[in-house]
Amino acid sequence: MNASYNNNIYSTTSSAMNLRKVFISGLAVVYFATTSAQNKDSIFIQTIVREATENSHLQKMAHELLDVIGPRLVGSPNMQKANDWAVSTYKSFGITARNERWGEWRGWERGISHIDMVYPRVKSLEGMQLAWSPSTNGKAVTAETIIIPEMADSLAFDRWLPAVKGKFVLVSMAQPTGRPDYNWQEFALKESFDKMKSERTTQTEAWRKRIGSTGFTSRTLATALEKAGAAGIVSCNWSAGFGVNKIFSANTKKIPTVDISLEDYGMLYRLTASGNNPKINVRAESKETGVVPTFNTIAEIRGTEKPDEYIILSAHFDSWDGATGATDNGTGTITMMEAMRILKKLYPNPKRTILAGHWGSEEQGLNGSRAFVEDHPEIISNIQAVFNQDNGTGRVVSISGSGFLHSYDYIGRWLSKIPGNIREPIVTTFPGTPGGGGSDHASFVAAGVPAFSLSSLSWSYGSYTWHTNRDTYDKIVFDDVRSNAILTAILAYMASEDPAKTSRERIVLPLNSRTGAPGTWPQQNKATRKGGLDQ
Ligand SMILES: [Zn+2]
Repeated sequence: MNASYNNNIYSTTSSAMNLRKVFISGLAVVYFATTSAQNKDSIFIQTIVREATENSHLQKMAHELLDVIGPRLVGSPNMQKANDWAVSTYKSFGITARNERWGEWRGWERGISHIDMVYPRVKSLEGMQLAWSPSTNGKAVTAETIIIPEMADSLAFDRWLPAVKGKFVLVSMAQPTGRPDYNWQEFALKESFDKMKSERTTQTEAWRKRIGSTGFTSRTLATALEKAGAAGIVSCNWSAGFGVNKIFSANTKKIPTVDISLEDYGMLYRLTASGNNPKINVRAESKETGVVPTFNTIAEIRGTEKPDEYIILSAHFDSWDGATGATDNGTGTITMMEAMRILKKLYPNPKRTILAGHWGSEEQGLNGSRAFVEDHPEIISNIQAVFNQDNGTGRVVSISGSGFLHSYDYIGRWLSKIPGNIREPIVTTFPGTPGGGGSDHASFVAAGVPAFSLSSLSWSYGSYTWHTNRDTYDKIVFDDVRSNAILTAILAYMASEDPAKTSRERIVLPLNSRTGAPGTWPQQNKATRKGGLDQ
């Protein structure tokens, strides 16, 4: 579908050709009016590109948000700091912004994590406590490690359970290799690679059975171990790349839960299995801060002709806290802020109102954006378009029509103005299908609002940065982010200037391939307004 864009954009046919067309059609006035509008657009778009290129604020914003403030876990003091920073940064751009309260969450402040092996030799381990892990309250806990053994059934597990008392329990499988598959592919003999993969599959299946036979899920197991008097939980959630683990939340209420790098976890596991009785010393500090309010930051450039119609630039603001959430979603955040800055400077009186929505608690289920959709029916019914970006630092390479029948017409029209080097790599799918989840555009699509994901090139997002301990400033590819800020600013400008309101007509969804039942549009889900309290 995208091929059609490559033909009809920036129609730079020779003026002689155009003039002939004009005389043939006899619509000279219309022609000249159209031409001057096109010229106005293209001159304006050049100024956007120049501002983004010569006066970029991306690096400064990334540093302030990611290095100075840091990760933005829902309910943490950092999240509140980030909300306040966004409002004051917008203010410095001359843009009004506000923090809109939408709910409350368990408040928790991450402190230091120190994990050392102290027996049979000393080695500081690379690891950290998971989000909302209970604190060791200023002390360090030293204890031996223990592995969950293979057992016949949950009765056998119950009989074994007292053995965890006073011990750190290793709850993850030890990976057979710390090399990612692409590394094996490059260097291994084919038969070695195949053998490793088949052994790993067998081992993974056996580990799944081992956990299953306890009678608990990996989530409820932590509670059972805690009740039985374990000193703490040690996991290794490897993300299939060198040096990367995914860092999510703890399921314990009193004892610390820490995640350790593949290398250190494997060593501890082997030492435990071989009867060397390793001991580790864990200090995990954190503060419970009660129940705290949660916010979306909303910035606004008021429209002049149609102030009650809206374009929303959308990116979630919260993150997991294993690193600083640089590409999930620091990059989407600064893309939208930079686009707003450029628009305010060069297009301060848009026809329609342009909002930026920096949503809270996307990571726990799109909560900030769902709440916004519930709380603002007057905005929701008058949205021209939502542009959301949330899958990494890469330049945008795909846009889907989200299942809106006429999305081809307006998105096509808007994209036609994007400079060729940014537009040409973008694969478009029209009318596309409505996404059910994944990121905040889904909250709007479910309410029938034309909302679109500006989908990025991967840059190994899934394994290396998404929810990992390595999602940091240095992974940002600023040229790509700048390209996305230019794209977003121009799309917002075009959507604002468009004489027509966008159509919300939906496609008839294809039959369900399994059941044969008619396809249904995704349901609007309720925001969780009070979260994290029964974990
Ligand atoms: Zn995200």
